[in-house]
Amino acid sequence: MAFEMGPETRQVQGTWDVTTYRYKIEGKGMKLLCDAMKEKKIRGIRCNECRTVYVPGPTFCRKCHIDIDEVVEVKDTGEVGTFAVLMADMRGNPVDTERVSAQIKLDGADTWLGGTIEGIDWHDVKIGMRVKAVWADNPEGKLSDIDHFEPA
Ligand SMILES: [Zn+2]
Repeated sequence: MAFEMGPETRQVQGTWDVTTYRYKIEGKGMKLLCDAMKEKKIRGIRCNECRTVYVPGPTFCRKCHIDIDEVVEVKDTGEVGTFAVLMADMRGNPVDTERVSAQIKLDGADTWLGGTIEGIDWHDVKIGMRVKAVWADNPEGKLSDIDHFEPA
């Protein structure tokens, strides 16, 4: 199988079982983010020293190694930092509809947030492409309150 790709895009065949990964999620920044999402807002924490904005916010700056707690709101628009096209499920079975899983740098944030991109053929997804969040109708204060992203 061969696909037409942009010059900066490389296709890698393989399976990646994400269930074997463990993430340390800092509770305070995640609670801040989830509480904001109930109101369809996105909040992170900024470092006073280097001005880096983290979403979700950690309680310390990963660059300056100091405690941080300045709450800032970022936009629900941003650009695609990187993405993967999921063509098979966890067991390697082909899926009916390819899914674009992306890391998105929201406007005002310096970190990337994961999400899926819909409303566009995966062949047309590009790094740097502008996207906007599509919110769930009734946000519950969960990361899934951003249902997906679509081209802006
Ligand atoms: Zn800093």
